[in-house]
Amino acid sequence: MKITILGNNSALPAYGRHPTSQIVSLPGEDIMIDCGESTQVQMQRYGIRWRNLNHIFISHLHGDHYFGLPGLITTMSLQGRTAGLNLYAPARLMEIIHLMLDVANTELSFPLHFEPLPAGEAKMLQDAPAYTLSCFPVSHRIACHGLVITHKTKGRRILPEMCMRYNIPVEHYEKLRMGQPYIMPNGVFIDNNLLTADAPAPKKYAYCADTLYLPDIVPYIQNANAIYHEATYMEADKDKAILRYHSTAAQAAAIAKQAGVNKLLIGHFSSRYKDLEPLLQEAKEVFEATVIAEEGGVYEL
Ligand SMILES: [Zn+2]
Repeated sequence: MKITILGNNSALPAYGRHPTSQIVSLPGEDIMIDCGESTQVQMQRYGIRWRNLNHIFISHLHGDHYFGLPGLITTMSLQGRTAGLNLYAPARLMEIIHLMLDVANTELSFPLHFEPLPAGEAKMLQDAPAYTLSCFPVSHRIACHGLVITHKTKGRRILPEMCMRYNIPVEHYEKLRMGQPYIMPNGVFIDNNLLTADAPAPKKYAYCADTLYLPDIVPYIQNANAIYHEATYMEADKDKAILRYHSTAAQAAAIAKQAGVNKLLIGHFSSRYKDLEPLLQEAKEVFEATVIAEEGGVYEL
């Protein structure tokens, strides 16, 4: 699993930073999380194509999280996309999209499968063989959800040296992954435990969206390999964070610490800060494994 940051600013573009968007890439499948203004331009800049983009999640309907969506879906239609696109978003986004298409007398070249997010509730959005997508509620000025992406692992891990020692044919590896033993042509039984090891743990990434400091989300994001948490303000501006339903960098770090995650990416920075280093320092004092979600940055899990 790999995360590419396309936009890390809040509200408006500032100091070369753009409104929120990021791409989570799984083998053959990209998931976009939020789609602020200029997301298409950022996709071009960082070499993200829409061919693998099958899911778009919009956390809430503040403009800095979805104003790039109309342009992006129009481009995909102009370029003749035919594959269906899954859109998970607050229910009223469909009214906006329908109105836009209606006044332009436009029909999309591909089916848009819309899944409304249940205000104030958690829900499994997608349970595919290789991954799951599930949303959880956060606390913002309007209904807002975070997203958890879990990449499932495919069975037990093959031990190549052991398989070579026992001359196991490669065609049998899939059965070994499923936990089956191997019976040699002379009838000797080789136990699966000799040939494989436990499956690696599934990879988990959580996007915590725009939110007040909210320890209630910890159970949803527990033990993730990485989380992204908004860090709009510094501690000195904590009153503004509370007033506007946002978090400080130190609060984001406190959530990461409580959830026992491996890594914290911070973003959604206020345009009042040109230099982000002080925000990073405040977060690191609470949770050392913090990085700034840099635009164009690629984070492997
Ligand atoms: Zn917002």
